[in-house]
Amino acid sequence: DPLIVLITGCSSGIGLSLAVKLANDEQKRFKVYATMRNLTKKEALEEAAGTTLNHTLEIKKLDVCCERSIKECVESIPGRRVDILINNAGVGLIGPIECQSLEEMQRVFDTNFFGVVRMIKEVLPDMKKRRSGHIVMISSVMGLQGIMFNDIYAASKFAVEGFCESLLYQTMKFNIFLTLVEPGPVVTEFEMKTHEEAMRGDYSKTDRETADMFMNHYLKNTRAVFSSLGQTPEDVAEHVLHVITKKKPQFRHQTNQVYTPVTALKHADPRGGLANDLFYKLVFQHASLMHASLHAIKLIRWKAHKVQQGARMLGLL
Ligand code: NAD
Repeated sequence: DPLIVLITGCSSGIGLSLAVKLANDEQKRFKVYATMRNLTKKEALEEAAGTTLNHTLEIKKLDVCCERSIKECVESIPGRRVDILINNAGVGLIGPIECQSLEEMQRVFDTNFFGVVRMIKEVLPDMKKRRSGHIVMISSVMGLQGIMFNDIYAASKFAVEGFCESLLYQTMKFNIFLTLVEPGPVVTEFEMKTHEEAMRGDYSKTDRETADMFMNHYLKNTRAVFSSLGQTPEDVAEHVLHVITKKKPQFRHQTNQVYTPVTALKHADPRGGLANDLFYKLVFQHASLMHASLHAIKLIRWKAHKVQQGARMLGLL
């Protein structure tokens, strides 16, 4: 029998690519419920799904911000069976916090964090009964390391990470896998739209220096990072396929190797100096991520060496 996969936020980007990839699996290992908040946006997915539509891929309505919508969708699946839940739906928010309303910020949390919580609350009891299942979160490297002007977005992804870290021990006991997939920059339509909107935004609610930091440092810098290191949604989908077909899926999975040193800085230097230094250089001194990462790798090696020395002194090595 194919595994039943439910994916949220499939009208575009990573969700759309992933739904199509799984539906086209040559070994026909999956039956995909590709869900989206607004069915009037289903055309792109229908087109990409091609002949898999209504065979290995079915489109359903699901708004992660609405408990009733989630329940209705899950109830409509035979036996309420979801073997693999992929929490992909998410929204971004960039800019100085003075220019963002509390409502906008709460919407980010309601989607990115409480959306995940609502989904898990709905499927977890059934998975526990069956003592099987896999829940995958499309988190972000920003769930591990904050980046300037992404304050609220990063906080929402940190919330997802903390929630999952805590839930993990319960799920392990019930033979349910939990995985945080952490992509770096992914070039989607959404990213370009956010960027263009930000360029046209009104920054009169903040001071000129902050507005300049955002427009002339942050936006230019992110553009460069996206065009040099950005992955495609298909790349990320390939990583998710890999994760869900593993016998023992790991808890964390980063999709962009270039970012691994960046997220390791915090552990290499718990006092925060390394990470802060790298991001300062990146944003204000236009250091390339590669260059800054290389420096970081050297420092991490040095730290690892120190840890080893310490362990030797204690007779542990
Ligand atoms: P996207 O905007 O193309 O996809 C997000 C999808 O979520 C959209 O289809 C949107 O309609 C949907 N969505 C929003 N609110 C919803 C709701 N209430 N209910 C159901 N669906 C809703 O962008 P994407 O890059 O494909 O993002 C997918 C996930 O990947 C997000 O969780 C995002 O945070 C994460 N991510 C993206 C990047 C990136 O650089 N693009 C990097 C790391 C992580």
